[in-house]
Amino acid sequence: MTKKILVREVDEQIHAQLGEIADEMGVSLNSIVKDALDKWIKQRSQIPHKHDLIIYDDEKNLLNLLRSMDRFSREDNWFRSFCGPSSHSATKLLTKLGWFDGTINPYQSNQKDIEAYCGNVMKRVEKESKGVSVCCMDFILGDIGQNSLKQAITIEAGYNKNRIPGLMFCPYQTKTLLDAGIEHMMDLFIEHDQIFVLKGDELHKLHVTKENIHKLFMN
Ligand SMILES: [Zn+2]
Repeated sequence: MTKKILVREVDEQIHAQLGEIADEMGVSLNSIVKDALDKWIKQRSQIPHKHDLIIYDDEKNLLNLLRSMDRFSREDNWFRSFCGPSSHSATKLLTKLGWFDGTINPYQSNQKDIEAYCGNVMKRVEKESKGVSVCCMDFILGDIGQNSLKQAITIEAGYNKNRIPGLMFCPYQTKTLLDAGIEHMMDLFIEHDQIFVLKGDELHKLHVTKENIHKLFMN
């Protein structure tokens, strides 16, 4: 079944130009608009909607990783953005490197309606990106996780229902995961597409698969 979309307030000049093109091509204005919509949807569906976890121990190593990520994301024209507490050395570095700060101030990890707050931060980043694929480092979740990893996981799950186009990276410190225990740690893993562990300046990818006990006895 087809539905109607109303295109409002098109500039007179653009309308005239479109009319001329439509006449030349022997097509209707409607089909030009439909074609543009199809192209937009196709282009948007080709943008990855990735959501990865980065586990780090030492802030110095994380800063080195961010410097490298800055280089790659600049070359590939990603919309570079972040959110997180302004006291974090990583957010300080990213500010210096010219990344867009999506944090809505005032921010506190234990503030009321933190889930709605995080949703608004993502909306802000997406709006500011103006359609350019986003590369975002989210330091808010790692911050919330220090007090309650369970709450951070709930927000992660919420993000998965409405991801923004591009790459979302969530750095968590090892201590946060270990303090919370295996149950929560695994729940956090499940909410991410890929898990990376930063060892010194080396990035390692972690593969987590559920196994049957009989696998322990196989070669
Ligand atoms: Zn995440």
